[in-house]
Amino acid sequence: MIQPMLSAEELSRYSRHIRLPDVGVEKQASLRQARVLIIGMGGLGSPVALYLAAAGVGTLGLADFDRVEAHNLQRQILHTEDSVGQSKLDSAMSRLRALNSGCKLVAHPEGITLDNAVELIGQYDLVVDGSDNFPTRYLVNDAAYLARRPLVYGSIFQFEGQISLFDTPNGAPCYRCLFPQIPAPGTVPNCDQAGVFGALCGIVGSMQSMEALKALMGIGETLAGRLLVVDTLTSRLTRLNLKRDPQCPLCGESPSITDLQAKNYEFACQSEPEQDSDANMEIDIHQAKEKCAAEPAPIMIDVREDFELEICSIDGARHIPLGELPEKYDALPRDRELIVFCHHGGRSLRATQFLHAHGYENAVSMRGGIDKWALAFEPDMARY
Ligand SMILES: [Zn+2]
Repeated sequence: MIQPMLSAEELSRYSRHIRLPDVGVEKQASLRQARVLIIGMGGLGSPVALYLAAAGVGTLGLADFDRVEAHNLQRQILHTEDSVGQSKLDSAMSRLRALNSGCKLVAHPEGITLDNAVELIGQYDLVVDGSDNFPTRYLVNDAAYLARRPLVYGSIFQFEGQISLFDTPNGAPCYRCLFPQIPAPGTVPNCDQAGVFGALCGIVGSMQSMEALKALMGIGETLAGRLLVVDTLTSRLTRLNLKRDPQCPLCGESPSITDLQAKNYEFACQSEPEQDSDANMEIDIHQAKEKCAAEPAPIMIDVREDFELEICSIDGARHIPLGELPEKYDALPRDRELIVFCHHGGRSLRATQFLHAHGYENAVSMRGGIDKWALAFEPDMARY
């Protein structure tokens, strides 16, 4: 294919790339022809989108269905205080347009779904996963394999990041070669409650953008067949070799996954301990509200941590952090109904299970936690 020449403006704009011996005019021009899909405009998607737009990738597809919230700003550097409440897609588009008007942006406001994943990824040369949850990660992996497109993977947990290039069209392993099945709920921390270090998102997202650029330009050694592990607490980088697993349910010799079926992506992030859940142990926010209006009113028990109480609280609730419950539960009355709540309902369900096991059958957990409560009843309450 004959690459169109770069304009004088482009030669100047990308001159610091072009001067690199591995890049030159031709490789830079090839970026202009490239089409990259980025899944998620959050912590990882932010640096990925910014660097790919700045680098002169011709077309960027952006997939996200979420809105910007104030607690995103600590790490999602595409967005600003002015974009709180806006769709992440609108916020990202205006930021990226301002950065590089020569980059064509295509919005996918429905995000990536079972129904559109393979077709959507098939419209691009390469996909970068900036998602933060297991169902999406597995869905993107499977769809990229089925669409025969390379996938740049990145994930973070606490202070550690992982990056790889799942270049399955060229024989490299996929995510399921590493982790064949989606983890069972309860075996990994609840996504919303896990802490995330902003600068780590920057490191991993920037590395993902570098992998994408190398793969698109065909320069250097990519992370295909390798997993890079970044431990930011000890400043250690480890590069592991990955092998394609012949038993892989997706890219193995006799795959069990040959199309996208909902059952392969079921993982209830917020209902972590639901497997042990008992219908008698949970009520929803509306039932909780009704009970609070009745006489005698139940006792609300907030099992969140101290710092969370400073963000928001429910009037009249007693505070017993989950970790202190074993020492303090004994003082709770056994003749009043107890409604236990936390941020999203995971910790409060554990607390309720604990209380039931200690003879408090009068305890119930409020499903959805203070966050659902705030959305439904107290719109002015701060959320996090
Ligand atoms: Zn595989």
